[in-house]
Order: sequence, then structure tokens, then C-alpha cells
Amino acid sequence: MNQAYSKELRADTAALLIPLIAGTTALGTLLIAVTVESFAAGWHFWLSVVLATASGIFGWQALKQERRFLGTVVFTAVHLLIFFFIISKNWVPGSMVPYLFAVLIIASSMFTQPDFGFIIWGVATLLTAIGISGHVDGTIELIKQIIGPVMVNLFVAGAAYFSALEWQMAVESVSALHLKAQHRRDELFAIQEELRLTNAKLYSTNEELEKARKTAVAERDLRTRFMHQVSHELRTPINTIVNFAHIIGQGELGTVSERQVDYLSRIEKSGWHSMSVLNDLLDLAQMNAGEFRLKRQLVDLRAVCEEAVASVRSLLRNPDIELVRDYPDVWPHVMVDPKRFQQALLNLLGNAAKYTDEGQITLRVRTHQHTATFAVEDTGIGIPEAHFETVFQEFRQLDETIARRRIGTGLGLPISRHLIERHDGTLNVSSQVGKGSTFTITLPLADPSETNGHSPPQDRPVAQERPF
Ligand code: ADP
Repeated sequence: MNQAYSKELRADTAALLIPLIAGTTALGTLLIAVTVESFAAGWHFWLSVVLATASGIFGWQALKQERRFLGTVVFTAVHLLIFFFIISKNWVPGSMVPYLFAVLIIASSMFTQPDFGFIIWGVATLLTAIGISGHVDGTIELIKQIIGPVMVNLFVAGAAYFSALEWQMAVESVSALHLKAQHRRDELFAIQEELRLTNAKLYSTNEELEKARKTAVAERDLRTRFMHQVSHELRTPINTIVNFAHIIGQGELGTVSERQVDYLSRIEKSGWHSMSVLNDLLDLAQMNAGEFRLKRQLVDLRAVCEEAVASVRSLLRNPDIELVRDYPDVWPHVMVDPKRFQQALLNLLGNAAKYTDEGQITLRVRTHQHTATFAVEDTGIGIPEAHFETVFQEFRQLDETIARRRIGTGLGLPISRHLIERHDGTLNVSSQVGKGSTFTITLPLADPSETNGHSPPQDRPVAQERPF
């Protein structure tokens, strides 16, 4: 039990009852005092007014100074005396004054402790007997006169005792709850403080992050500008080299020997390769900088596929390799950026051509319920399963001996995957070493609300399994 809390409640009760009882006693005795004709006959009433008021003020002050016991004992004692005075001076048979002790019995059991009411009852009984004894003859008569108020007061003391006990129990449970609430409040304060600190930390971390982000953005912009600049600077001379090599190789500036033609064609090839590496690097820089913009639209996918297949023909390592187009009767409606989609497709077909020495390369297009797939299958060297994901990492080439022999940068697949993912699609590989590989692009079908009920331009069916 929280003693402090219980004392606090008792003090609160006393603070309420003391002025009430003192005020009522003072007012009551004052009203009687003014009706008494002479001061000599009613001086004890005037004294009662003064005593009741003074004890009320004293009790109140004592409570304020946290001297509850002293304040309530003095207050009760003074009131016992007042009632005693009135009984001994003015008692007549049937007087109600002895019953007034009940008020003090109730009040004291609430001020101090439940059984205190019985002590006050004992004192009140004694005072009543002494007070009345002057007005009656004989003990029997005295007992007859006091038995009524004494029994009523005893009953009140008992009732006050039990209700004070009940009140005390209620106070105990309230005080336990009060304690719990205090603990919870303390815990909450601690949590609040922790939160405040964490918030402050978060705030400063955020500020640092923001600074770091700004620096990173500035660096990225610088890098992208640099890449643009370099690629522009390199593109012009490479173009010049390639074009002049081509012109000279054609014999337009005079006769060239077979060996010279061979060298010139190697210069031209290397030039084109450098150009494509440059383009890949630029694409990569743009992707990393998040500057890649797509212009998605409904396009003639068949034309896009046809163009890609046609341009890969010149890359075949062996003219006997069969290029197969396996197209659907009805082409899917897919929103793509034609240039970027074709770039991904070309890259897959180009790889198939690079890593296939014999057999066939197939472009298989299929429409499913919600997606369309574009699979490039080859019968080439294949990829070990452990490398199905590695091949999509930047600058990663597998077998050095084979991959290096077939010039490349290791950028084609990562760029293609990025392009396809930007179309909300996926690019995956399945393969068996020595048997071949299948790279599959999966794209979502266009939402009818996007196509607005229109078909892509020149959408028409094409015969299946038609070799070149
Ligand atoms: P690269 O320019 O080297 O071809 P890519 O990113 O296009 O770069 O491919 C990465 C690597 O994946 C290649 O070096 C090669 O080892 C492997 N690869 C890609 N396509 C195929 C394929 N069709 N068959 C076998 N290996 C492939």
C-alpha cells in the first residue's frame, strides 16, 4: 500500500470536513447565542463560536503544514468540549445534542484511522454522562437518559468503522493503480526521452545523408558530363578512321594490295567495335546516372524482330548456321521503346551468333495470358548453371579463352537486362554447356486502356518456323 497516497487522501478528506464541521458548529452556536437574552446565560455559546472557528482555522493551517494528526486531534478535542459545554449547560430530556457526537465519530474515523471512531465514541459517552449527570437524579435515571444517544453513537462508530475500512481498501487498490500509473508514466518519459535522442540522431544522420547524396549527385553529373564529352571526342576521330579506311580499302584513292585491303578491313572492324564499346559505356553511364529515358509505344514488333534478325546475319560465324524465326499467328500488343527493345534483342542475337559455331539460332515469339516472350535460342557453347546470373553482371565474361577470342566487353547482357527491366519485364537465361543457350525476354502485355483499342501498325501474322 502506498502510505503517502493514503495519507494524502485522508488529508484531502480532512481539508473538506474540518471547515464544514467547524463552520456548521460556529453558525449553529452563533444562531443560538443571538437568541439567548443575556450574555451570562449564553456566554458558552459565544465561546463555542470562537472555539469552533479557531479550531477550524488551526486544523486547516496544520493540514497545510502537513501536520494532519495534530490538526485533526485538536479540532476533534475542541468540538468534543463544545458539545460537552452545551450538554452540561443546556441539557433537557430529549435534547439532540448528545447525538451530535456522531458527526465527530464519523469524521475522526476518516481523518486518522477506522478504529479511531470507537475512541471518540468512548470519550463522547463519558462526556455525555458527566454533562447529563448534573441534570438528573440517580444513576438509573442517568443511564436511562444516555442509553439512547450512546447506543446510536456506538452504532454510528461501527458503521463508520466498516465504511472507513472499505474506503481504506478502495484507497489501497486505487493507490496500487496509482503506483502502476506512475511507473508507466516514468517508463513513458524514459521512452520519450530515448525517442527524442533517436530523433535527434536520425535528424543529424539525415542531414549527413542529404549532404552525401548531394555530393554523389554532383559527382554523378560530373561523371556523366565527362562521359558525354569523352564519347563525343572519341566518336569523331573513330568515324574518320573508319570512313577513310573504308574509302582507301575500296580502292577509291588508288590501287591497294590484297594485304593492304586486309589490314584496312581490320582497321574498319576495330573502329566499329570501338564505336559499339563506346556506345555501351555511354549507355551504362546513363543508366547509372538514372538518365535513361524510354519512349514506350505500340509498335510493329514483327518489323522490329525482322530487322534485328536481318542485321545479325552478317555476324554469323558459319554460313551454314540456320536462322529460324518462330513467330505467333497473332502478335502480342506490347508497349516498347522500339530502339531500346531492338538493342536488347540485337545483343542477344549477336551473342548467339558469336558463341555458336554450328546448328541453328531461333527467335521464338509467344503470347501468354498476361505476357509476351521473346526467346533467342542457340546451339552454341552454352553457359554453366553457376554463371546464369554472373553473365548479367557488368564487365563479366565467362571462359576467358573463348569469350576473349570473340571480342566483347561484358556489357551487353547487363545493359539488355536493364533495358528490359525498364520495360517492366525480365531477361533470364537457361542453358546447357555444349548444347546451347536460351535467353528469354518476358514483357507485360499492354493494358487495353493504354492501347485505346488500337492495333500496332502493320500487325499481321507471319508463317511459323520459316528459315532464311
Ligand atoms: P560480351 O560482350 O562479352 O558478349 P555480354 O554481356 O553480352 O558481353 O555477355 C557476357 C558473357 O556471357 C559473355 O562473355 C559470354 O561468356 C556469355 N554469353 C553471353 N551470351 C552467350 C551465349 N549465347 N552463349 C554462350 N555464352 C554466352
